[in-house]
Amino acid sequence: MAQNPAGRVSRRPLRPVTRTIPLAEPNLRGNEAAYLLECIEENYVSSVGPFVGRFETAFAETVGSKFAVACASGTAALHVALLVAGAGPDAPVAVSTFTFIASVNAVRYTGAPALLIDSEPVTWNLDGEQLLAEMDRRADAGLPLPRVVEVVHVLGHPADIEPLQEASRRYGVVLVEDAAESLGAQYTSGELAGRQVGTVGAIGCFSFNGNKLITTGGGGMIVTDDEVMADRARHLSTQARLPGLGYSHDQVGFNYRMTNLAAAVGLAQLERLKELLEAKCRIAGSYRKAFSELGLEMSPSVDWARSSDWLFSILMDDGPAAAEALSRSGVGARPLWTPAHLQPPYSHEERVGGAVAESLHRRGLSLPSGTALTDAELETVIGEVRALAG
Ligand SMILES: *Cc1c(COP(=O)(O)O)cnc(C)c1O
Repeated sequence: MAQNPAGRVSRRPLRPVTRTIPLAEPNLRGNEAAYLLECIEENYVSSVGPFVGRFETAFAETVGSKFAVACASGTAALHVALLVAGAGPDAPVAVSTFTFIASVNAVRYTGAPALLIDSEPVTWNLDGEQLLAEMDRRADAGLPLPRVVEVVHVLGHPADIEPLQEASRRYGVVLVEDAAESLGAQYTSGELAGRQVGTVGAIGCFSFNGNKLITTGGGGMIVTDDEVMADRARHLSTQARLPGLGYSHDQVGFNYRMTNLAAAVGLAQLERLKELLEAKCRIAGSYRKAFSELGLEMSPSVDWARSSDWLFSILMDDGPAAAEALSRSGVGARPLWTPAHLQPPYSHEERVGGAVAESLHRRGLSLPSGTALTDAELETVIGEVRALAG
């Protein structure tokens, strides 16, 4: 291993030159290593450690919420958030069918039946108008109404939240946001102007998995302005242990807290949020320019919200085949998700529509969008897509 003059092992380049251009990879060139070292030197590695609180405080401030609760994963955050929102076996939870499976798994963990909702074609997110119509229909027919709606902001793009707010007013449904992929995305017009995704519903969740905008290796965050919800989330994520020295528990809790090691990395990542978002924006801008010349359909862009451009995606005739072909050429592309209603564990759940989600799955693929992507790599990806599309 190379040694620098100070005698420390130097960091190797972010990736060997011959590797496949990755879809999204961690970018750990800030204070991550220094903060981790601090944890080890001070012997604070578990969830009792100063970085957990510091990360929570900084995160809440960054997204503009009052409280934040750090969790072991985005999925754990969603599970707890849904429980706190009132999800349980006695009422359905409405959730997007076009999403990463964790959104729907979290519903199942609570025991609630999922009501799978199609996407609308503009933002690819949960179709609030279809959900609202379904709720009106159920109310008229005396059928059980969802108690919770889990809206996913997919691929970095904010969902149209207005019909869901209307569902909330009309039927008291509680809004949980799965903002796992969309840290930094914002609404830009009307009453919600300046509000970040994850802070619009009653409770919101983020993920810090390795491929997300910021990473802690594995981790998640719950945010809310409701102190009771925040306290309940913290309680459930720490085995529902009551204060004091003893081992008394008033509910079935979970071991879902984030460790100090993970939070140390998270805090360092958060310090670089602006830089990482700018990198995503630059990459998306280059793709958008190149592909509009080719006439390709691509990641949504609307005038009422700003995407975080987490994973730039395009639609072609056959998305999965295109992703395969690109992968063979060293471009780490990935098909868009198979909708939940086509996955065996959820094929029997009730659903509203599904054609838009199926079309996105059939046609869509995501392109390399890592924040360390070089201009040369971008040109390679664009060239390969051009060759496929031509
Ligand atoms: C990544 C992701 C999750 C789960 O987060 P983990 O930290 O991997 O558990 C949930 N929902 C969506 C939409 C995601 O992309």
